Amino acid sequence: MTAQTYLFPCLADNYGVLLHDPATGNTAAIDAPEAEAVESALQAKGWQLTDILVTHHHADHTGGIAPLKARHRCRVVAPHMEAKRIPLVDETVREKDTVKVGSLAGEVYETPGHTAGHISFFFPLEKLAFVGDTLFSIGCGRVIEGTAKMMWESLLKLRDLPDDTRIFCGHEYTQANIRFAKTIEPANARLAAREKEVDKLRAAGEPTIPSKLAEEKAANPFLRADTAEVAKAVALLGKPAWEVFAAVRERKNRF
Ligand SMILES: [Zn+2]
Repeated sequence: MTAQTYLFPCLADNYGVLLHDPATGNTAAIDAPEAEAVESALQAKGWQLTDILVTHHHADHTGGIAPLKARHRCRVVAPHMEAKRIPLVDETVREKDTVKVGSLAGEVYETPGHTAGHISFFFPLEKLAFVGDTLFSIGCGRVIEGTAKMMWESLLKLRDLPDDTRIFCGHEYTQANIRFAKTIEPANARLAAREKEVDKLRAAGEPTIPSKLAEEKAANPFLRADTAEVAKAVALLGKPAWEVFAAVRERKNRF
């Protein structure tokens, strides 16, 4: 049996997600925004929490760790650079490390920029990527602790994953991201198609996550900073892609 995922809303606009290995029964929470929401999700699925995989230290990703660990004695895996800022860490990981959830094997990608030690988890056999606040659907995280160049390089790492990778991010920001993306690439037909799909999902109260990487590559302006269309939109044609990325990010900050 293949891996199962379960996505559920937490706090104001966060997502929690459970990753379950039917072969062993092991279940990981990817980040722990709030304990109650994770507990309800576990109960809804009848799964036992064995691991928490943490993408970065922000409170809206780690606030549930202490109560969940007290109750489930689960293992907490965290980025080595941020371990001191995350409660009750059992294991730290860095680039290219493997993290097992039962028989499922994930690879660690260091994706700094939003925070200095942010990591993402990619499960190659299942083609699942858990990217925290680095990549959002049609958007990306704010560059808070790193530099724009660092964030662009992190996004390039994620962009290199297989096209049919399902991307799980930490927040439901897709509609607002699309409103901004249309100001950068108003003629992008794939963006228009994504907007239709997303409006329909949100009207039905459904999440827009996960998205397919191929869709993001076609419509997310932050993954397209090395295209002429996006460079032209910020009047930086011929400039390095990371500078284009920085300009687009700056515009989004003020949008
Ligand atoms: Zn964050």
